[in-house]
Amino acid sequence: MAEKRIVIVGAGVAGLTTALLLSKNPSYKITVAAKHMPGDYDIEYASPWAGANYMPISARGSPAAAWDRNTWPALEHLARNHPEAGVHFQPGHVLSRKKDVGSVTAPWFAELLSTSPWWKDLVPDFRVIPKAELDDDIDSATSFTSVCINPAIYLPYLVSECSKAGVSFKRAIFNHICDAVTAHHSGQKAHVVINCTGLSAAKIGGVEDGTVIPARGQIVLVRNDPGAMYTISGCDDGEDEVVYVMTRATGGGTILGGSYQKGNWESQPDPNLAVRIMRRAIKLCPRLTSGAGVEGLDIIRHGVGLRPLRAAGARVEKEKINGNWVIHNYGHGGYGYQSSYGCSQEVVKLADNILDEKARL
Ligand code: FAD
Repeated sequence: MAEKRIVIVGAGVAGLTTALLLSKNPSYKITVAAKHMPGDYDIEYASPWAGANYMPISARGSPAAAWDRNTWPALEHLARNHPEAGVHFQPGHVLSRKKDVGSVTAPWFAELLSTSPWWKDLVPDFRVIPKAELDDDIDSATSFTSVCINPAIYLPYLVSECSKAGVSFKRAIFNHICDAVTAHHSGQKAHVVINCTGLSAAKIGGVEDGTVIPARGQIVLVRNDPGAMYTISGCDDGEDEVVYVMTRATGGGTILGGSYQKGNWESQPDPNLAVRIMRRAIKLCPRLTSGAGVEGLDIIRHGVGLRPLRAAGARVEKEKINGNWVIHNYGHGGYGYQSSYGCSQEVVKLADNILDEKARL
């Protein structure tokens, strides 16, 4: 089997990163087929709405931690050497409030809020802020250098890199994952289909993963410059609201977040939530408006994205469906960018394994 045909369903960060890594093998002939492509803004397409930064929440020793660990070198390389990718270094500050210590949500963010996370020697400049420098209501805080990605630049960059490597792109909507077997650009049947459908993994035939739900993220994009990224353990407006600030690379503006509303499919921004997001961001980072309050924010747009949250974590595994090999890579919740290379490396291993075996038969 000289030529090995692969169809990837989905052109979000998962599908595009997978295509890029698979394209390093010259015998792989790859088609990316998707309902939405970079340039589209749609509630069924999470990737354009992300911050997106690298702040791991994965538990020490878990598969997710390995995916995050294996992603950092690639993002660091892009930030250092490829300004055209839309990835830049930015200082990050993480604060933990005294009142959130031991709260219901605390365990989810334990690793990010820890003063000794597993990734402290991975990212540059990690340090614990001395207690004397903290406000009274803050229990602990850390700072480090991380990256922030501008999806409006980065997703098209991935398409360009894939195109250079010979990957074909087309629009398609599949009712069943196995329908993609006949979508290869050669007109011949694909040997493997890769399922990178994000939240739609809950609905697409052959998968219908009922454990995948949206975690709704509302954001405000502004022109103001906070000078760094900030996030804090909680807020007083409810357990499904969160507070973070980050500036996207290459003129992408500053994202003010947000919310983490599980099971909420609402695509339209809630104006009241938007006001709370802006107030909280300014409280966390007064430099945003230099004392001018919410009126000092220069708003570009309000937005909503649905994080594809899977109860047991992202699914990266192979499965035979109706006699066809399918490799799943979906359900990355709020960490699809920061785990993208690690997960895609796993997919490459699974694909190599399936296609080597097919070649031997
Ligand atoms: P998607 O981007 O949703 O792409 C799915 C693709 O599958 C699309 O191309 C779609 O058209 C296609 N598709 C689906 N069904 C079908 C079908 N039946 N037929 C054909 N095509 C189909 N992550 C981070 O790492 N860091 C962050 O800071 C961060 N911040 C975030 C902030 C917000 C507000 C949100 C919403 C998310 C954030 N995330 C962040 C999470 C990240 O955006 C997601 O994990 C990631 O984008 C998921 O990518 P994906 O490729 O799996 O899915």
